[in-house]
Amino acid sequence: MERAEIAIIGSGPAGVSAAITASLRGKPVLLFGSKDLSDKIGKAHTIRNYPGLPDISGEALRAAFQRHLDAMGVTVTEARVNAVYAMGDYFAIQTANETYEATTVILATGVVQGKPLPGEEEFLGRGVSYCATCDAPLYRGKRVAVIGSSPAAEPEAAYMAEVAGSVLYLPLYDGDPDLPASVQVLREKPTAVTGEAVVTALHTEAGEYPVDGVFLLRDAMAPTQLVPGLEGSGGHVAVNAKMQTNLPGCFACGDAVGLPYQYVKAAGEGNVAALSAVEYLAAQK
Ligand code: FAD
Repeated sequence: MERAEIAIIGSGPAGVSAAITASLRGKPVLLFGSKDLSDKIGKAHTIRNYPGLPDISGEALRAAFQRHLDAMGVTVTEARVNAVYAMGDYFAIQTANETYEATTVILATGVVQGKPLPGEEEFLGRGVSYCATCDAPLYRGKRVAVIGSSPAAEPEAAYMAEVAGSVLYLPLYDGDPDLPASVQVLREKPTAVTGEAVVTALHTEAGEYPVDGVFLLRDAMAPTQLVPGLEGSGGHVAVNAKMQTNLPGCFACGDAVGLPYQYVKAAGEGNVAALSAVEYLAAQK
């Protein structure tokens, strides 16, 4: 597999800006995200603080970002990244179906909204997981619940069904999940994960289900969960003014690195992160 020089995880304003700057500096990028770029762009009714665009709707800004990516020849790889491993002189980037390699990584994953499920943090690594591709082999023949925050979670639930003894799937979105017949779809709101040494049950508003594992597949996960060894600070990724993290070759930007949560800050930091990645690559030669 060809190793990318720069992989960007997240297609919001931070990731888009990083991709544009890297492309302008002659570095083709591997940009992971979604075809809508970011929910948080499309959802904004009117944006009044983006320089030069005094009264733009979120949807119009999203379309403008897309036109800019198209003009630069940047395509979005539509995949949720499940894990990023620092391998020394490169990073291994794992999605549900593939593993990619890149010399540098820019984390532009935004922030995880909402409170964790009661029991989630307590049982993390003891029955609670965020990555089916990574942890499915531990649940061979066992009972598993998969909570999916968007259809992007469905391929991972389908993979779990090949390995686990039984799979419950709780979609937190509308629409009919496209899953193998063996997966039992529950339209119930999860309320807690419980257990003793390890997870023994998932609770919902409607009842209690005995399970050995609970997979929480959100569109965004905390970058410190995504990248083993990454240093955090107050719930964000710790970076310096060059957007460098504690891992050489790994940069972060946008909401992921802290307040204020703003488009223009995210875009500015994406620019800095890309320039720092280019500088890092030059120093490796
Ligand atoms: P995001 O926009 O959150 O983008 C992150 C992207 O990364 C998403 O596409 C996500 O799916 C993707 N991603 C995350 N994890 C993974 C993974 N593991 N694999 C692959 N992709 C991944 N700010 C303003 O300045 N002005 C406003 O008027 C304004 N209005 C807002 C209105 C609303 C309703 C909301 C919700 C926010 C508003 N904001 C506003 C805040 C602004 O949306 C954020 O600050 C900005 O979007 C942050 O950009 P980002 O690129 O850091 O992250």
